[in-house]
Amino acid sequence: MDLGIRGKRALVCASSKGLGRGCAEALAEAGVDLVMNARGVEALEATAADIRARCQVSVVTVAGDITSEPGRAAVLAHGPFDILVTNAGGPPPGMWSDWGREDFIKALDANMLTPIALMQAVLPGMMAQGWGRVVNITSVSVKAPVPVLGLSNAARAGLTGFVAGTARQVAGKGVTINNLLPGIHATDRAIALDGAVVKARGISMEDAIAERAATIPAGRYGTAGEFGAACAFLCSQHAGFIVGQNVLLDGGATNTTM
Ligand code: NAP
Repeated sequence: MDLGIRGKRALVCASSKGLGRGCAEALAEAGVDLVMNARGVEALEATAADIRARCQVSVVTVAGDITSEPGRAAVLAHGPFDILVTNAGGPPPGMWSDWGREDFIKALDANMLTPIALMQAVLPGMMAQGWGRVVNITSVSVKAPVPVLGLSNAARAGLTGFVAGTARQVAGKGVTINNLLPGIHATDRAIALDGAVVKARGISMEDAIAERAATIPAGRYGTAGEFGAACAFLCSQHAGFIVGQNVLLDGGATNTTM
């Protein structure tokens, strides 16, 4: 399917690895020019070089922390953008009783206030030109809390509330905002969480992965490629009537009727 977005320009945050990389790759395959970001220069440049070699698109790299003011200013300087994909690392796991004010402020900054600041920066330009697409990478934890990820549960719920209202305020100008909610995907983040289980319970990594995969009706972890394809569709011309939705990509793991 031609997604109809060849020649558009996208900012894909936190995209040297994992789900962000999956989104960047899928958009590049659809002919979208990219501004990519991550903190680590080496992986960012390697991913950008790989995409340039495979797709006939321009790829600009901006190394920096997207959760910081200077990091955001550095990527936004490469605008204007037709497409924004927000993403950042997830907060650490722990117990509800572990976290103090500073932990919450950090999580809110990374997973709520950063995507909000990025949207506030790009939405006026998108509305003025009458077309735009925003996809926020959030988490399954928005629909069903993950007990060890209380910081994520809290921060992402706040972002979801902001998007629910804002998406309806900008839709009339041809701009859509939607959230993609990953369940368990085979990325460094998932392996780090499995590593914490290995350490806590003294089981092997294979057993930890098999246990978690067994909780997913699809019987496996998702892939960054599948995730990126869903993101590219939400950014496509065909998705202009999808507004303010929270799309769960979890292999059926969340046991709900709707
Ligand atoms: P990942 O494999 O660890 O990749 C994270 C990517 O983001 C890397 O490119 C990393 O590069 C970059 N990054 C992290 N923090 C950054 C920052 N402050 N500024 C700029 N770039 C940053 O993670 P993932 O699995 O793709 O997860 C992406 C998001 O989805 C996270 O918020 C995660 O919590 C959420 N999520 C993931 C899963 C899953 O199963 N994978 C499930 C639910 C939710 P640098 O480290 O070099 O900056």
